[in-house]
Amino acid sequence: MIVRDLPVGSINIESKEVKVINQVNFTCQSSTECCRKHDIPVTPKEVERITDNGFEPDQFLINFTPILINSKTGKSKIKAYVLKKKPFSHDCVFLNEKNLCSIHEFKPFACKIYPFTYEIKDTENIEVRVHQDSVCSSVSVGLNAPSDSINIIRDVYSKVKML
Ligand code: SF4
Repeated sequence: MIVRDLPVGSINIESKEVKVINQVNFTCQSSTECCRKHDIPVTPKEVERITDNGFEPDQFLINFTPILINSKTGKSKIKAYVLKKKPFSHDCVFLNEKNLCSIHEFKPFACKIYPFTYEIKDTENIEVRVHQDSVCSSVSVGLNAPSDSINIIRDVYSKVKML
């Protein structure tokens, strides 16, 4: 079952207390559908990291003028670029012939936390959600299997902290 735009739970930035809203299970099946079906936003800092690793912007960006997307608080806009697709397909330009990400060590944040996303709810809490446009079939909700929700929330938060 494919699940879309569902809150997993939240974490308090100060106390690190986790509140689970939905019992979610996630075991990545490595289908790479996310690398084929989504447009991936990249921040100027991420573009810099990729170019520092030997790629030219025209190899991996669709646009050289940044677009403005909503920040996580929804109160401001941030600059972003979009990763290129391979010719005649919708595959990300970094998806290699073995169906692996060729920039895994420095891939964009959006890829690192997929199929989850997060929202800054207030000054104290971050809410983790299942991506609203999820094409991921590795996520399930409310099944009898043990819930991964706490680990998912902590994992997303640990990546947010590294931004
Ligand atoms: S950068 Fe890597 S993980 Fe992200 S969409 Fe492209 S191939 Fe997939």
